[in-house]
Amino acid sequence: MRTTILGYPRIGARRELKFAVEDYWAGRIGADALEKTAAGLRAGMWAELRDAGLDAVPSNTFSYYDQVLDTTVMVDAVPDRYRALSGLDRYFAMARGVQDVPALEMTKWFDTNYHYLVPELAPTTRFRLADGARAKPVAEYLEAKALGIETRPVLIGPVTYLLLSKAAADAPAGFAPLDLLDGLVEVYAELLERLAGAGAQWVQLDEPSLVGDLPPAAVEAVERAYHRLAGLPSRPRLLVATYFGAVDADALKALASTRVEGFGLDLVAGTGNLDVLASTGGLRDRTVVAGVVDGRNVWRADVRRAKAAYAVLLGLAGRVELSTSCSLLHVPVDLAAEHDLPGNVRDRLAFARQKVAEVVAIGKALKEEDPLPAPLSTPPADTDVRARLAELTDARRSDREARVRAQRAALGLPVLPTTTIGSFPQTDAIRRARAEHKAGRLDDAAYEQAMKEEIARVIELQEEIGIDVLVHGEAERNDMVQYFAERLDGYAATGHGWVQSYGTRCVRPPILHGDVSRPRPMTVAWAQYAQSLTDRPVKGMLTGPVTMLAWSFVRDDQPLAETARQVALALRDEIRDLEEAGIRVIQVDEPALRELLPLRATDHAAYLEWAVGAFRLATSGAADGTQIHTHMCYSEFGAILGAIADLDADVTSVEAARSRMEFIADLRDAGYVNGIGPGVYDIHSPRVPDVTEVEENLRRALQAVDPALLWVNPDCGLKTRAYPETEASLRNLVEAARRVRAALN
Ligand code: GLN
Ligand code: ZN
Repeated sequence: MRTTILGYPRIGARRELKFAVEDYWAGRIGADALEKTAAGLRAGMWAELRDAGLDAVPSNTFSYYDQVLDTTVMVDAVPDRYRALSGLDRYFAMARGVQDVPALEMTKWFDTNYHYLVPELAPTTRFRLADGARAKPVAEYLEAKALGIETRPVLIGPVTYLLLSKAAADAPAGFAPLDLLDGLVEVYAELLERLAGAGAQWVQLDEPSLVGDLPPAAVEAVERAYHRLAGLPSRPRLLVATYFGAVDADALKALASTRVEGFGLDLVAGTGNLDVLASTGGLRDRTVVAGVVDGRNVWRADVRRAKAAYAVLLGLAGRVELSTSCSLLHVPVDLAAEHDLPGNVRDRLAFARQKVAEVVAIGKALKEEDPLPAPLSTPPADTDVRARLAELTDARRSDREARVRAQRAALGLPVLPTTTIGSFPQTDAIRRARAEHKAGRLDDAAYEQAMKEEIARVIELQEEIGIDVLVHGEAERNDMVQYFAERLDGYAATGHGWVQSYGTRCVRPPILHGDVSRPRPMTVAWAQYAQSLTDRPVKGMLTGPVTMLAWSFVRDDQPLAETARQVALALRDEIRDLEEAGIRVIQVDEPALRELLPLRATDHAAYLEWAVGAFRLATSGAADGTQIHTHMCYSEFGAILGAIADLDADVTSVEAARSRMEFIADLRDAGYVNGIGPGVYDIHSPRVPDVTEVEENLRRALQAVDPALLWVNPDCGLKTRAYPETEASLRNLVEAARRVRAALN
């Protein structure tokens, strides 16, 4: 039984790559030093994977920033605006922008938290293998070979590359990147020939797009591309890897009609793959690389399940090899670095290094050389939580009119009320206090005092600027998910569990490992303190159940829907306690509602039903007079407009400054009738919007929405901004609201 993995984290066990790249950006090290660190990381990884006992080791999984960007550079699809630059400068300009040259757009890699840089293509794009014999996959293959390690270069497949691309702004209407398939495939043909010349035995072509809903032209594109590539007279053997779900049956048939030798199938996220394989007649003369170890989550593998899948596969495939379900890019590097996780949780975990060992161990166990490891223990059930949830079935608030009346009486706000999304700038002083507190050099009382001073300053500033609904500023929160995870039972934070989110940005998702409950209030003391300083309403600030799940590693032994309800119940209790403490407005952020949307449209309704249900469970215990807000920040609302309406929040704020308020009408058409706060300026840059610009946005919004429903706010939290621009922007926002109000009277 041969074993392999589809990819490995590239950042290094101690985030060495992140720090080296950031040093390079800051001019602290030169390109040579950066390349040396990178080569060291690659060499260490290859040796580690070989020594762990894998039969096939992947290469070209390294990237200075992103593997899609690497591909764009490799095939020379570099937009003209970067052509004046070269080398690493050009590469990083495409990733991050320079002075007047904006970066490529960044978006999420399928339904993961990894972000890639979107290629911009046009009919004028002329693909070519930019570095010829020194192309990155060839160079990395030879680099490993020089170290005595035979590897399998990993490429993004041509069909997925084009499906992930967008038409450049100046491309004619009707152009689709897939139109460029034949030219791109010729570059891949040259690359495969060069890899064969260098000695590569196998090449892995990643085609995760084939698990989603495919545009009509895609299946034919798959057949044409792989017919050409597999028909090359001199080439390595080809492994086409799909992952993140079950492969589309027609795409699989198209691939099988070519002479491609290997098929990577995800048997964790793609439980339907065995059925697809059976229904399409199997791959009896090919190799199936069976992804049995979850590359997306941190749990130890269920060896019995792997064994059962393997038994079925044996009847459907010529040869079976074992692998991870997808690249291990999405999990932290090494569990050995964790010292503070509870033992019963740690026992159930495997990070990238442990998952490699699991693939090897399962390979041996399936050969019956080793006995099967003991089945995984399951976390103990919290019977209280489960009993309460069993009773809370139909959770909804009373009708809209009653709420509007009660809230008007309770809050007494002007028309076009002004507010912010929650966080205020996270200053160096705040970060320092948090770090000192964590290190034990600042005691609890001193830390609390520092945070209170910060809150008092933020409240005073908002009063002085004239904002109507205040926030406490979230100074005490390290992160909007981790803060709550640290306060909920059933959740654990890791010390070093870093995962690449994009470029050098890494996140440390907490691990939701058991039934969730709230031992004590989580935010009440801070909110109550803030409210004690002002007569204006202070908005309580919570992170919603879907976002808590989306930005964590979640348990895989029960449906997400069930886990979401447990988180929702804890939030429901928190909302009750906030109300009792005199908080009259409470925002439940759901910025990840769009993000967890399943890849296939047929799965959308079921997801949205539980996602909306969890939000309503969290918020429906609130009194009529308590105003519930929610916030989400992205502009692609299409598939979830109806769900936003169903959340039934009293006020919804969204990122709209950049999409010019159009979506207000869309939301209304989807049945949304409550308050709405389209972001009137973009907080993602330090630019200060002037009064007339905000006024114009408000007037445009008023063409689509009743003045009684319109709120005035920035498009997201202010934590990444500095104070000077924040103050100036908020003053202009308040002045714009005043002017538009005056014109309404
Ligand atoms: N309340 C959060 C903040 O203001 C919301 C962050 C977000 O939308 N991602 O920072
Ligand atoms: Zn936001």
